Amino acid sequence: MTPPNAQATLAQALASAVEALREVSSTPRLDAEILLAHTLGWSRARVLARLQETIPDDALQTFRALVERRAAREPVAYLTGRKEFYGLEFVVDRRVLVPRPETEALVDAALEWARQHYSPHDTLLIADIGTGSGCIAIVLARHLPNAVVYATDLSPDALAVARQNAELHGVAERITLLCGDLLAPLPQAVDLAVSNPPYTILNEIDAGVRLHEPHLALDGGSDGLAVYRRLLATAPQALRPGGALMLEIGATQAEAVTALARQAFPAAAVHMLRDLAGWDRVVVVNVER
Ligand code: GLN
Repeated sequence: MTPPNAQATLAQALASAVEALREVSSTPRLDAEILLAHTLGWSRARVLARLQETIPDDALQTFRALVERRAAREPVAYLTGRKEFYGLEFVVDRRVLVPRPETEALVDAALEWARQHYSPHDTLLIADIGTGSGCIAIVLARHLPNAVVYATDLSPDALAVARQNAELHGVAERITLLCGDLLAPLPQAVDLAVSNPPYTILNEIDAGVRLHEPHLALDGGSDGLAVYRRLLATAPQALRPGGALMLEIGATQAEAVTALARQAFPAAAVHMLRDLAGWDRVVVVNVER
């Protein structure tokens, strides 16, 4: 134990943080390193190279306060205000869901579809439904320079974060942010609609997620499927012939969402893709020409 007034080294500060986080996090050491690096304004590599140096008192206070918040299950991304997604860094706070690595599977599917169906010279109309931080819409806009992107969200607070991220990544002029419910605010039908809608059953998810992240982005109703039903009810009018709809799903929802998609689009080809961890993750609807 470090006596209260003795100078702590970075190594000691990290060790007590790891102890404090062991019960709430599956990655206590990583969390502690990220929070210490954030506190000092350093990279993690620099922290790890200087473990035997002493930590200034004010930094130690700041670090301990962050560790305390993490111990109350607040996501690391809200504590640092940043989250990496598909190679870009996004501003995040409690107004938006933290981007998840599994959602990169949805982006992969969308980019692959765009490569197969559109030449870089065609204008491609894309809609991201329930955009949150804007991470999906922004990555698509960055990778598809000729895409015109609509991004909708019911939450004006989320759209403010999405706007900040679109500006940060230089695509604000190609993304139109629209406030409203699901597909309703779209001014015209699109070629490609993507969505990571709320699909969880709130009382079944991780307590930290439920305590700190926006329920509007998570709550899929009593069976987790409520938003898919509403979205699929109007999706046929929102897509151009030959277009595609891609929906992120929870790992156990493949059968149910595939069935709902087939009801909504009886003539379309519907298939399912997995994420890098091998879980069912994206339902793809290829609309007939
Ligand atoms: N993947 C998120 C989670 O498990 C849920 C995201 C969503 O509902 N779209 O917490």
